[in-house]
Amino acid sequence: MPGVTLLGDAAHLMCPSGEGANLAMYDGAELGNAIAAHPDDTEAALAAYEEALFPRSAATAEEASRVHKLCLDDNAPHSLVRFFTNHGQAG
Ligand SMILES: Cc1cc2nc3c(=O)[nH]c(=O)nc-3n(C[C@H](O)[C@H](O)[C@H](O)COP(=O)(O)OP(=O)(O)OC[C@H]3O[C@@H](n4cnc5c(N)ncnc54)[C@H](O)[C@@H]3O)c2cc1C
Repeated sequence: MPGVTLLGDAAHLMCPSGEGANLAMYDGAELGNAIAAHPDDTEAALAAYEEALFPRSAATAEEASRVHKLCLDDNAPHSLVRFFTNHGQAG
């Protein structure tokens, strides 16, 4: 829809992992940058913003899902303890 975009949870709702608010604020900053870079072309600004938005949020959603499983899977809390013991190297 022309002239409309989404950011934060509205664009990429994800499980609680400690990244949702960070990502929402980052989206806002990137949207502001895109508008400033295309002051006379809103559609170009939104297209540039959205081109980076979706891959960025997909990557974070994958990581969020991994952390969520560590917290709640059948091996929890041992899987989460192992994650911290290994400094995040193993899931
Ligand atoms: C249990 C839990 C724990 C979390 N822990 C963390 C954490 O530790 N770290 C972290 O980074 N993130 C965390 N998150 C995620 C984080 O809270 C969200 O990703 C973040 O708040 C998203 O911000 P937002 O501005 O996109 O949406 P929101 O914060 O949901 O803001 C949307 C706003 O729009 C308002 N609204 C809705 N509909 C309308 C309407 N029709 N008209 C007007 N206003 C409307 C709502 O009332 C709300 O104030 C957690 C989430 C949950 C559920």
